[in-house]
This record gives sequence, structure tokens and C-alpha cells, in this order.
Amino acid sequence: MSSSCVSHHHQAVRPRHGGRLPRPAAASSFAPPALPLRRRAARAAATSAEAAPGVAPAEEAGRLRGAAVLAEMAEEAAVWCAVHGLVVGDRADPRSGTVPGVGLVHAPFSLLPARFPASFWKQACELAPIFNELVDRVSLDGEFLQAALSRTKQVDEFTARLLGIHEKMMAINKKEDIRLGLHRSDYMLDSETNSLLQIELNTISSSFPGLGSLVSELHRTLLNHYGKVLGLDSKRIPRNWAATQFAEALGKAWAEYNNDSAVVLMVVQPEERNMYDQYWLVNHLKESYGVTTIRKTLAQVEAEGQVLTDGTLAIDGRTVAVVYFRAGYAPTDYPSEAEWRARLLMEQSSAIKCPSISYHLVGMKKIQQELAKPNVLERFLDNKDIAKLRKSFAGLWSLDNEEIVKSAIEKPDLFVLKPQREGGGNNIYGHDLRDMLIKLQKEQGESLAAYILMQRIFPKASLTPLVRGGDCFEDLTISELGIYGAYLRNKDKVILNNQSGYLMRTKVSSSNEGGVAAGYAVLDSILLTDE
Ligand code: ADP
Ligand code: MG
Repeated sequence: MSSSCVSHHHQAVRPRHGGRLPRPAAASSFAPPALPLRRRAARAAATSAEAAPGVAPAEEAGRLRGAAVLAEMAEEAAVWCAVHGLVVGDRADPRSGTVPGVGLVHAPFSLLPARFPASFWKQACELAPIFNELVDRVSLDGEFLQAALSRTKQVDEFTARLLGIHEKMMAINKKEDIRLGLHRSDYMLDSETNSLLQIELNTISSSFPGLGSLVSELHRTLLNHYGKVLGLDSKRIPRNWAATQFAEALGKAWAEYNNDSAVVLMVVQPEERNMYDQYWLVNHLKESYGVTTIRKTLAQVEAEGQVLTDGTLAIDGRTVAVVYFRAGYAPTDYPSEAEWRARLLMEQSSAIKCPSISYHLVGMKKIQQELAKPNVLERFLDNKDIAKLRKSFAGLWSLDNEEIVKSAIEKPDLFVLKPQREGGGNNIYGHDLRDMLIKLQKEQGESLAAYILMQRIFPKASLTPLVRGGDCFEDLTISELGIYGAYLRNKDKVILNNQSGYLMRTKVSSSNEGGVAAGYAVLDSILLTDE
């Protein structure tokens, strides 16, 4: 553990735990979180232990005290992660993605929870059951999904393959009586409009219910120990039961399937450094519901699975009640035809799919953009809910809209260009966005249909101590709040429709992308404020 928190920023900024700052006397300052310390620190100039010229000894002492507190906290936090399973596989160990218990490192995290206004938190929580219901209703409209994606599929092979499976299910009139959705709707607070805007809705493989709940606990523990010094109240961190709530939804779905000897099949990638997030659910499922989970890759499902004449999915002779996908959302998950055969096999079976192919498609960015068009939500929801959802929609456009494409070429920084991909690292920004649009326009074919354009959201940046690989450093960050939602129904009976915890992800503000697993962001939680 490093002995102090290193500052990586080189400009005047707004620290995470306070209001406006006096302008720092010079660049690069360390900003401890306690208000009195912070004010002094903001005027301190150096990152070294030596006082900068013009800094009073008392201020310097405060700055150092703040640094010492953060360093102590960072060490305590890293220990907490190790003894509570807030861990991921370490890139440095080649076996860490395949052999459990080998090559573990604490998950990257923010040392302090991000301030988040209680009013926006409430708004985001209220949207969860509405989005859950929306996904379910849209999933039942096969024609809508096919039509909305018909042009995209001509230019995007991955979309075409998914849509092909969906089409096959429509052709045999396949009905899913029991439907399970484990979603995460992601938001950013736009500082220009002071509004909560949705980034995307994940319907497949929503990650970090396990580790996300732990980060809230970690922050609560740290504030219980240091809250007085920092002037922060641990009770302002909302409780986060994402792991147990997702396990509950999986357990209840399993119970609806009504076969005591059946298992949950977790479909996983062959290498998964985020396996402990998944194992948290496995563990809760076993301990609270007595349900066994088996983990298989798509290739293994193809080799070991079959659908019996009555529709039962059997893997290695075991009946599968629920298929829970933590893989299958990216083209790289399907390196050969075998993986596609596995996906089709599972879809054809009577097992409950989380998600079904329809639920998966509803989460595509093209569908997000179609749902944002005028009069589309009206097809699926009641009036009072429509206004609430719409308020959270950012500008979303298809590339048929020549006006918008022109604006985006002129002002690329106000937009994000998105292909139909999941998992981080796929979006296009700035100069690349402009170049890509110009190239796509020149091609003049259908290639524009592979993308959507989105209004760029600008969250306020703040100075945050982050901990990664045992090192604490401070940087300018922005955050994205994910709200988990669990939905389970059996025919007409809605068994669950809940907001199910949350995940804050915080990233260095100079980075466009946000994935934690992809290496861009750290895990975080929130501290509610009355702003
Ligand atoms: P993915 O499916 O890869 O997670 P997202 O739509 O969530 O795709 O985009 C990835 C990341 O890019 C987000 O986590 C966020 O940090 C950033 N991002 C996406 N859309 C916007 C936007 N409209 N404005 C600002 N940042 C965005
Ligand atoms: Mg995302």
C-alpha cells in the first residue's frame, strides 16, 4: 500500500465532498475530504510532504493530516476487500480467470462514496419497475422488434444472428410463460440541464450485483470509522441488497419451474476475471434457496446439452430450470457455430431464460432509440408512466436523420456514436465520430443503420481518491449510477417487479468509456445529499 494518495490532476477542480472552492494558488493540489482540511488543501500547492511557498504551516499540517487519513483508510479498505470477497481476478496471473481462488486482487474502488442528490436517486429508483414492465411488454411484440432491427441486421452480422433466433422462435410460436428479467438501467446526471438521463438499459448479463452491494458496505464501514473526521454520515449511503435480491429472483424463478432436482445454469465466458461477482449470486442461491448452480460456457452447453422431447433442457443429465446468461452478449462469445447452436438449443427449451432472446433484443441500443421516438412508448405503457420514462431519455437518433448527422459532424463533442454492442469500449467520440460519420456517408449504403447517435451527457467532475491494485491516487472523475431491477412473472401473475439495489461506477473524466471490467472505471457507492 502506498503511504499517501497521489494526485493525478493538474488543474483547479471541484472536490467530491464539498461545494465551491477558492481557486488553488497553484496547480496539482491534494484535496482531503474533511471540509476544513479541504479548504486549506485547496490552497496548498505541492503533492510532496514539503510545504509549498506561500502556504501557512497550519494549512500544510491540515493537508498532511488529510493525506494521512486517506492513506490509512485506503489500507483499511484494501484489507476489508480481501476479507469480504470484494475481489476480482488479477490480470497479472494467467490462471486468475479460470481457476477460482487463484490470483485475486481487490476490485478497483473509490475510497469515498460519490455525492448524489436524494431527489435524483428517488427518481431513478421509481423508474426501475416501469422499465421492467416496459421490457416485458416490448418483448411480447415480436413484429415490433423485427421491424425495428430490420435495417440494422442487414449491416450487422451479430444483430442478424440474434434476430435469426428470434425469428425461429416466432415461427414456432414459442411462448415463455415464466419470464425473468435481471436488468440494470444506467444514468448520468447531466450538468447542462441538471437532469437524470439514461445511458442505456441492460437486459443481459447486468454485471456487479455481487461486488456492487459490497462496495456500499465497504463505504458504510469506512464512514463508521472515519465519518466524524470527514464530516460524512454513513447513514446517507442507501442500503444495497443487489446480490441477495438478484439471488432471490433467480431462486423464485427456479421455484416457479417446480422441479426440486433442477439446477440453475450460469452461462459464462471461458475466462472470467469477474467470477467472484458471479459466485456471490451462486453462494446466495445455495444458502438461501438450496439451489445448485452449474457454470458452463456456450461451447460446453453445445457439447453436453440436449433438449428432451418434452422440452426439458438437460446438461450432463441434469435438468435446467433457469439459464442465467453472464456471457453471450458480445460477438466474441460466439467464436464458432457451436456457440450459436448452444444459444438456439437453450432458447428452444422450456427452461426459463434470463434473458430470453426477446428480452435480449429489447436491451439493444437500436431499440432504445426506437422507443424514444414520438408515440412509440404509447404502444406499450399507460400514460402516467410514459412521462416519467421520457423525462429520463436523452436525445437519441437514427442516422437516417440527415440534419442530426450534419450537426454531429459539425459538433462531434456533443454526441456519442454507438454501434449495437455491449460490454464497454465500443462507442465512438470526438474526431473519430466525425471521421466515421463522413466515411459512412460516403459509403452511401445501409452501413449507417448499424449505429445510433446519442446526445452526449456531461456530468459534473469532482476530485476523488481511487484505489486500484493497492495504490491510492486522486483524479478528476465522473460517475454513472446503475439501478438494478428484477422482474418475474408467470403468465398473468407478476411475482416480482422491484428496484433491486444499485451500482455506482466512477471513471476518470478524461476517459470516454465507463466499464469496470473493461478497465476504465472503479466501483463506487453513493452518499445522498439534499441539493
Ligand atoms: P456498453 O453497452 O458498452 O456499456 P454504453 O452505452 O453503456 O455501452 O456506453 C459505454 C460508456 O460510455 C458508458 O458507461 C458511459 O461512460 C459512456 N457513455 C455512453 N453514452 C454516453 C452519453 N450519451 N454521454 C456521455 N457518456 C456516455
Ligand atoms: Mg453500459
